[in-house]
Amino acid sequence: MKHLPIFLDIQNKSCLVVGGGEVAARKVALLHQAGGQVTVVAPEICEAISRIASEGNVEQLHEPFSNSHVDGRVAVIAATSDQEVNTRVAMAARRLNIPCNVVDRPDIGNFTMPSIINRDPVIIAISTGGSSPVLARLLRSRLETLIPAAYGRLASLIVRYRNEVKQQFGSTAQRRRFWERTLQGPVAEIFFSGREKEAAEALKEAISDTDSQDLQRGEVYLVGAGPGDPDLLTFRAMRLIQQADVVLYDRLVSKEVLALTRRDSEKIYVGKEKSNHAIPQQEINTKLVELAREGKRVLRLKGGDPFIFGRGGEEIDQLSGELVPFQVVPGITAAAGCAAYSGIPLTHRDYAQSCVFVTGHLKDGSIDLNWELLTQPDQTVVVYMGLTGIETLCRQLIHHGTSESMPAALVQQGTTPHQRVITGTVKTLPEIVKQERVKPPTLIIIGEVVTLREKLSWFNPDIGSSDQP
Ligand code: SAH
Repeated sequence: MKHLPIFLDIQNKSCLVVGGGEVAARKVALLHQAGGQVTVVAPEICEAISRIASEGNVEQLHEPFSNSHVDGRVAVIAATSDQEVNTRVAMAARRLNIPCNVVDRPDIGNFTMPSIINRDPVIIAISTGGSSPVLARLLRSRLETLIPAAYGRLASLIVRYRNEVKQQFGSTAQRRRFWERTLQGPVAEIFFSGREKEAAEALKEAISDTDSQDLQRGEVYLVGAGPGDPDLLTFRAMRLIQQADVVLYDRLVSKEVLALTRRDSEKIYVGKEKSNHAIPQQEINTKLVELAREGKRVLRLKGGDPFIFGRGGEEIDQLSGELVPFQVVPGITAAAGCAAYSGIPLTHRDYAQSCVFVTGHLKDGSIDLNWELLTQPDQTVVVYMGLTGIETLCRQLIHHGTSESMPAALVQQGTTPHQRVITGTVKTLPEIVKQERVKPPTLIIIGEVVTLREKLSWFNPDIGSSDQP
């Protein structure tokens, strides 16, 4: 190990930054954030530094660097573009044994600045020993996605209850086990989902109840898996996917998303294919309750968004009734995903001021939509599950006043490498579906906005995309 990682207390201590540009500004900001008294020395000092200085604790000296500037500092950073000045700063600091960082020159200074993930008071610092700041930044962005924003505040919660836990659990091993279970269980999840008071209550309960049932308490995460591309998952979805013990998923959840689940998690297919449910909805609802009661962290993964034609509401209705804790994580719904990846904005100042989402499939297999509403001008209509009823759909739209030449698009397997987009008109759509053997999942977009695709299409995977007159 080339360096010793340490965290330096610079609260109200005197630090020096030599340099007045943007790079220096970033260092000033960091020292200032860590509570240091910062002196900036440079003939010219940029606006960004003056802005930080206006908050106090930053002194600006508009003059060239001289050796005496390093006197009495606890840390020095050289951030000028002139290597000769930087070297002089480093030498002056070294003579007085003051730690010195020279930006981008770990060979001249004697400490480097890590890439940091800030969840104050939790700070994660990454160093590559100065060999590759880019690598450190890449690693940092990966960790950023894994560590919930509220992690730091969770640390404050722990501090509040540390003494109580100490009294309750005699040995270090017991305490460690308690915290490990608590911080990976419902208390932390309740906390991360923003219910901090409830989390504190749950923590208190867990402390007082030593053979705590509560720690065994399972929970359900109803998570939107998006339309297919795993990059479209939210950070929270990603985290819950990686910690669940059991996963219930349906047909629309892509293989790539499923591959992100824990390898040892139990996976249960509850596939849905229109009315052909692999497991009836009621059974799914009951299964969720049962699994959570066994103390498991249950992930219910749904294609797109769970609350848009996803029956997510029904599933959590039962959970709520049976007092099983749950949380809902939104996903990118097919309309948003398919629109973006096919280059068809759903609204546009010139073409559509509103957009409606409808399902082309109703409980008893018929389509009974509000045709008056769907044929309003300057509106985009997005139809989910519309393939089977496409003939009726198009016929009714035309019958109620939509022009036969109204542009329309079919987006099959949107956002995936198999995405296929076919455009036509409301009149030609049913024929296209037959001829091109369009298969579910396919989203139908109807409206003038479809014409924008000609210019805005950007995602064209090799597997065919065709536009028809
Ligand atoms: N909850 C989901 C919708 C479930 S209904 C969501 O928010 O997206 C299922 C319908 O969604 C499919 O019949 C299809 O119309 C649409 N759909 C879902 N994923 C799709 C995809 N990747 N490409 C095209 N359509 C999709």
